Amino acid sequence: MTDTHCPYCALQCAMSVTDGKVSPREFPTNRGGLCQKGWTSAELLSSPARLTTPLVRRDGALHPATWDTALDLVAAKLRDLRAEHGPDAVGVFGGGGLTNEKSYLLGKFARVALGTSQIDYNGRFCMSSAAAAGTRAFGLDRGMPFPVTDLDHADAVLLVGGNPAETMPPFVQHLKGAELIVVDPRRTATAELATLHLAPAPGTDLALALGLLHCAVADGHLDQDYLDERTNGFTEAWRIAASWWPERVERVTGVPVADQRAAVRILAEAENAYVLTGRGTEQHASGADTVSAWINLALALGLPGRRGSGYGCLTGQGNGQGGREHGQKADQLPGYRKIDDPAARAYIQDVWGVADLPGPGRSAYELLDALGQENGPKALLVFGSNLVVSAPRSQHVADRLGALDLLVVCDLVLSETAEMADVVLPITQWAEESGTMTNLEGRILLRQVAVEKPEGVRSDLEVIQGLATRLGQPVERFPVEPEKVFEELRVASKGGLADYSGVTYDRLRAGEALHWPVVERSTPRVFLDRFAHPDGRARFIPVEHRGPAELPDADYPLQATTGRVLQHYQSGAQTRLVKELVDAEPEAYVEVHPDTATRAGLREGDLGAVVSRRGRTVARVRCVPSMRVDVVFLPFHFAGVGRANLLTNPALDPTSRMPEFKVCAVRLESV
Ligand code: SF4
Repeated sequence: MTDTHCPYCALQCAMSVTDGKVSPREFPTNRGGLCQKGWTSAELLSSPARLTTPLVRRDGALHPATWDTALDLVAAKLRDLRAEHGPDAVGVFGGGGLTNEKSYLLGKFARVALGTSQIDYNGRFCMSSAAAAGTRAFGLDRGMPFPVTDLDHADAVLLVGGNPAETMPPFVQHLKGAELIVVDPRRTATAELATLHLAPAPGTDLALALGLLHCAVADGHLDQDYLDERTNGFTEAWRIAASWWPERVERVTGVPVADQRAAVRILAEAENAYVLTGRGTEQHASGADTVSAWINLALALGLPGRRGSGYGCLTGQGNGQGGREHGQKADQLPGYRKIDDPAARAYIQDVWGVADLPGPGRSAYELLDALGQENGPKALLVFGSNLVVSAPRSQHVADRLGALDLLVVCDLVLSETAEMADVVLPITQWAEESGTMTNLEGRILLRQVAVEKPEGVRSDLEVIQGLATRLGQPVERFPVEPEKVFEELRVASKGGLADYSGVTYDRLRAGEALHWPVVERSTPRVFLDRFAHPDGRARFIPVEHRGPAELPDADYPLQATTGRVLQHYQSGAQTRLVKELVDAEPEAYVEVHPDTATRAGLREGDLGAVVSRRGRTVARVRCVPSMRVDVVFLPFHFAGVGRANLLTNPALDPTSRMPEFKVCAVRLESV
């Protein structure tokens, strides 16, 4: 029996693997619980869809090849492209499911072995806006700056744009003692559990947050002592919120005045209260400002940095937190350092023994949009992402991938993106390798080898080393042993915001609960004494409401929003291979109000077409009376013609470069 953690979401539920079977394990975040995805995760280990040999495209088809053939071919092509077009001709795309060690080594590989600035990762699509908002408010982005178990003692929780009852069910037990207020345009499984459900029109969350701040002031709930002692900038934020009186907010959002006031009253009167945000409010072209507006509300009520209260973001991907700390982001170096900070560059150059690291590159969507273009990358190496399903405006992204001279995909199965590749490299998966993950509360966890890897597969670290050495790098610069990589990561992170220098595999093996920063001791609650800005104070950020980038009109009269279901994870590349999950949720669907379906000539169970300015998705119609008549919902886990992201709008948030996944204008048609 080997103790490890679930391969999927950021709750990182603890489990044991015995003879290839999983069983739940007692751990603070899941307390012995697993969701259906976790329970069935062992099926991935013996899936017949598993790749066990590299594949190389010849005459239009993928053929088995040896590792040497595949890696030699990739390295030769990369050398040629770099010689012809310069180092930025090669791009790298990482993922929020990669271990800390892989995230770290991938960033180093891109900048040192390839010399490219063109690296970003799918976390940009996930919670980059919350990360940006947390950084500017508190000086540091640790999604949940307190242990999940603190929520057990909450009296009230405002949960905005999150549906943990489906995405991470064991998390819900931590909300049981609280009055729960859910903000979501849909009546989700989580909204069903709420004391109060506020259902704003998609894309109007920022107006709602401004309105709740207005109510907090107007109804006498402002925590003036906290404002004086711990914050700056309230006056500027209030200047904007002052004009968002509740009646105006009701007109814009559809949320009744009484519900706005009740939500603020419940939060303000609770002894212990939290504001939590999720993708629903973050994946917008105004994502960072929207999260800032929610943080402003939490600050006005005096919640962040107080024991028993706070603001937190519900990280989604398994290593969504660690994945954004160690340098696979376009604008970052290890330790959550900024790549344009001269001191940070000098420090990392010293650790890596190199000079002149490339500067910041394009953000994820901008990188994909540039592929094959005159000044864009001509080759892309993809680790841990299935872009053809998960990227916004996904047919355009597939077209860009198709325009490359070289597409290399590392994956355990032939995902939709791997199907397009010139070279596919089969890699190890969660229980076959060790490595650390950082969960949604900033706790570093050790995944351990629980089963033997199939013959023929290699780890991402081995792939990186194999390519780096073929490109002329010394082998010792790119170790393949996870613990060795972690030892280097510790040094590289030292002194940064996400400081892991005091974390060791031995401490993790001994079961120590280590929440970063860890110089010597763990920091489970980061803001109790001071926030991370130089003056120790949190900042209100003055933000204005701006609606969705695309509004409904005569041709596209509805709004589409996308999200997740219980049985599937991210692009579904893994969960669509698990029979029990597919039996329960087999195909793409669209939720609509019955009247909306009728107007389109559709009935429950029909195939309907949802059409936006960017594409057309075909999905099974589900009539849901609780849906708003002006909104349709599509889960984004499905491939082919059911891809929800054929519709989505890649309008980018100017601060975080987050695309607007959560709202676009569509029409509904019969097929
Ligand atoms: Fe836990 Fe998330 Fe895995 Fe479900 S998917 S078992 S909630 S870690």
